[in-house]
Amino acid sequence: MDTPLINLSELSPEALAAFVKELGLPAFRGKQIAGWLSQGATFDEMTNLPLETRKLLATKATTGALRIAGKLQSAIDGTIKYLFDLGDGNFIESVLMKYKYGYSVCVSTQAGCRMGCTFCASAKAGFVRNLTGAEILAQLRAICKDQKISISHIVMMGVGEPLDNYENVLDFIRMAHDPNGMNISYRKMSLSTCGVVPGIERLMEENIPLTLSVSLHAPFQEQRAQMMPVARKYKLDKLLEICNTYTVRTGRRITFEYAMIRDVNDSPKHADELIRLLGSMLCHVNLIPVNAVDGTGYHKAERERIDAFRKRLEDGGVAATVRRAMGRDIEAACGQLRRKAMEDRSEGKATDGDLCKE
Ligand code: SF4
Repeated sequence: MDTPLINLSELSPEALAAFVKELGLPAFRGKQIAGWLSQGATFDEMTNLPLETRKLLATKATTGALRIAGKLQSAIDGTIKYLFDLGDGNFIESVLMKYKYGYSVCVSTQAGCRMGCTFCASAKAGFVRNLTGAEILAQLRAICKDQKISISHIVMMGVGEPLDNYENVLDFIRMAHDPNGMNISYRKMSLSTCGVVPGIERLMEENIPLTLSVSLHAPFQEQRAQMMPVARKYKLDKLLEICNTYTVRTGRRITFEYAMIRDVNDSPKHADELIRLLGSMLCHVNLIPVNAVDGTGYHKAERERIDAFRKRLEDGGVAATVRRAMGRDIEAACGQLRRKAMEDRSEGKATDGDLCKE
């Protein structure tokens, strides 16, 4: 039986040094390889290694660099949505957004998602597997390499529920923060959960000063459970209780994400209930004009209604903003590109590059 190839980007510096020694290579090669890996390079691109060494490495290992299977660039704001091939028949998505303060990447943490939110394209495609910390980091590396940029902010809001893949996501957070690597400040990272209460409790104990976002979407238990099955297990009162504890314990403000869906959760009654629930918490509500997803029956709330909702929250003492829609023309809602690629693959259509509109 063939020995499986080792993914070098998943090795610690010590383990990489041991691997290099085992191959009979001098120690400085380990440092050279680590430098290339941090740039998302393939073995062919490691030009300061002898050809023989590169060939040897390719027989024993992979670099973990992700192949870009497609990308779509917004003509409106330059947002780029990437589709990456994981090499095992699965695809994941990441989104690069440019702001005044720098570049922000929204990463996926799982291939698919098992949370089943009714408004989400990822839920429709089902859950396949967790991503490793190195696979999440590889999304950043591939984008930096492709665009020749550095990234300042990370948003864990792509496909998957980060707290359903806790250990690997924590690995990723620490690797992205590593001063010898990307050196991204914890304060510039945001983790978004649909409300996995035990995960929030654990995260609180880690004492990592990242921003926690919680997808709320409805202020009534019954309605929230219809929209988000996770709410049947972790009920709204328990979720808000742990969120409140989190803000008190960490002194950090929580962001509540609230997708504005026409005639579903955009009424004054919903706003008033949010004020009752959140009025005394250190928090902020981010209203999201949702992208329509085929087959969900949900539609974006009208702009006047969103503005009135935001004003009602503010007047009631709850800080609220309306999220600027990025990449409207490229369907930036999570999971839509991946879903299409998976459907195309199962129908035997080519994926390589056919999504690229550059
Ligand atoms: S919204 Fe997030 S948590 Fe819910 S199904 Fe989609 S990816 Fe999963």
